[in-house]
Amino acid sequence: MRAILNRWPTTRKQTRRLRRCCQKPTQVQRFRCLKNAGDPNALHPQRTDRLVVMETKRPTVPEAEEILGGYFPVLDHGFVALVDYMGTDGDIERAARVSYGAGTRKVSQTRGLVRYLQRHAHTTPSEMVEFKFHCCMPMFVARQWVRHRTASVNELSARYSLLPLLFYRPEQPNFAHQSRVNNQGREAEPAPTALYREAVARWDALREGAAEAYGWLLEENVARELARIDLPLSTYTQWYWKIDLHNLLHFLTLRVDAHAQWEIREYGRVMAGMLERVAPLAFEAWLDYNVLGTRLSGGERAALAKLLKPEEGGLAVRDGATGLSRRELGRLGLAGREIRELLAKIETPERPDFSLDLADMRDAREMAAKMDTAVPVVDRRDL
Ligand SMILES: Cc1cc2nc3c(=O)[nH]c(=O)nc-3n(C[C@H](O)[C@H](O)[C@H](O)COP(=O)(O)OP(=O)(O)OC[C@H]3O[C@@H](n4cnc5c(N)ncnc54)[C@H](O)[C@@H]3O)c2cc1C
Repeated sequence: MRAILNRWPTTRKQTRRLRRCCQKPTQVQRFRCLKNAGDPNALHPQRTDRLVVMETKRPTVPEAEEILGGYFPVLDHGFVALVDYMGTDGDIERAARVSYGAGTRKVSQTRGLVRYLQRHAHTTPSEMVEFKFHCCMPMFVARQWVRHRTASVNELSARYSLLPLLFYRPEQPNFAHQSRVNNQGREAEPAPTALYREAVARWDALREGAAEAYGWLLEENVARELARIDLPLSTYTQWYWKIDLHNLLHFLTLRVDAHAQWEIREYGRVMAGMLERVAPLAFEAWLDYNVLGTRLSGGERAALAKLLKPEEGGLAVRDGATGLSRRELGRLGLAGREIRELLAKIETPERPDFSLDLADMRDAREMAAKMDTAVPVVDRRDL
């Protein structure tokens, strides 16, 4: 027990009584309650309106507590904040071994179990860990994101509230021509500066027009649900998003992948950094099996088996094996694209660094103020 805040007298006796009624807590937590307001002798937090500091019995992780409620900017106006979490690596283990108590096993054993579960897709223990995020993203990102159906979402209502007029503008390094090889993506090289400037000028003109029309409709007291209909997909929206660890890993696997749009990958990157702090062993296993690891088809596996064989507990090159030509790969049933993908799988990918930079973390009030100043001031015409 650390201290009692505000005007509370913090005598040893009171601290002892507070500790007793909170039953050996383990982590500091603040909360406020309004019952029996004004009773100076009410030590139990449910009987006071004062701000008190308590300790929690919940499993917590210092690295996660450090960022809890902190806002990490993403793109030009977006953010992700981890507002709450339930459980950590130990809870995956506790769920998997229901009969084991906390703290009875070494980290190396927890790590082995977490990795085993991840490797063999025993997923329900990881559903016992949960994350709640507050996120702000352009609507076109939200549209991709919301395809992940296994989360609970509560989005800002533009029928009820005025939208902050914040629009996403790609920076020049991310402004590129259509990819020649991937129908769903962009070239790696940025497009020429002159083209970028022209695009920005056109985007600005469109957005000014859309913002002006939005403001005018609101001033004319047109319903907000109608006033918003022509705001562009670049407009930022916000939501609370709650998901369990198993489904978060699925989301992140798809959305930090190079095939996903760069903008949503930026959100995935920050959320992976948050995951690393909440459940580092699950994060490590996910990185190893789902990000750096890969799945092999029957044909791909047959191709590798023609080159390699198990020998004395290790791997050896098969006698006479020198390689496999494209034609031989084709004979194993691999189509042209599958062959290209197999070659890419063989290249060891670079280990991505998802760690969060705490210097980026912003206060909730700062983010709220930014959103507030972007809400249009409407001088509504009275009817
Ligand atoms: C790079 C990329 C490109 C994409 N392009 C397109 C596109 O062009 N067009 C498009 O429409 N979408 C596209 N998507 C979206 C994609 O098809 C999925 O809808 C999205 O990734 C969510 O995946 P999911 O269904 O596995 O996830 P979730 O909705 O989170 O579901 C997780 C898992 O739960 C199970 N599940 C959930 N709901 C059901 C259900 N109703 N029935 C059966 N099983 C269920 C499935 O096993 C599923 O894998 C794209 C996604 C990516 C990553």
